[in-house]
Amino acid sequence: MNDFDFDPLEPLPMRPEEEVEKEIWQPSWDCFCCRDSGKISPNLVRRVIPGYNYSRDRLPVCQNCNKGHDWFHLDDLGVIDTRLGPVICRKLDALAREDWRLTAQAWFEMVKQRVEKETGEIAQEHNLRRRDRISAEFILAKKKHELARGDWEEIKEKKDEDEEDQDEEEVAEE
Ligand SMILES: [Zn+2]
Repeated sequence: MNDFDFDPLEPLPMRPEEEVEKEIWQPSWDCFCCRDSGKISPNLVRRVIPGYNYSRDRLPVCQNCNKGHDWFHLDDLGVIDTRLGPVICRKLDALAREDWRLTAQAWFEMVKQRVEKETGEIAQEHNLRRRDRISAEFILAKKKHELARGDWEEIKEKKDEDEEDQDEEEVAEE
């Protein structure tokens, strides 16, 4: 029998109640069994009580931390379930911690891959710009060479006014 296998318990019906499960990447709670609420998280309860129905069954109270004590006075009212003792709660705490660790790891991997992809794209973009700059410099160098050769007049005749202006700007940048 696996260390984290439990003897199944029967659900203890209570009264309907709804709760929205919040997703938080960085858990701020100390007790992973009940998230410091004193009530064992329903998904963890189902590891011990497979047929557990949060809307119907008694609330299993945490015995891994002292938060569960706040609920023990309700025992007489038949709304809490105290069968999940300290040993079970400690195991549930360990299970939840491992779940969080894996979730955080998967999240981290996803972010890392996205950053690497974006970094690669930026580098590629940078290389293209650099290549464009090199070809621009090559054209400019060729122009200078043409000027030095004295065939500037001949080139000028083939261009319109706009291109002439551009040429002047480029030469000015020397
Ligand atoms: Zn707890």
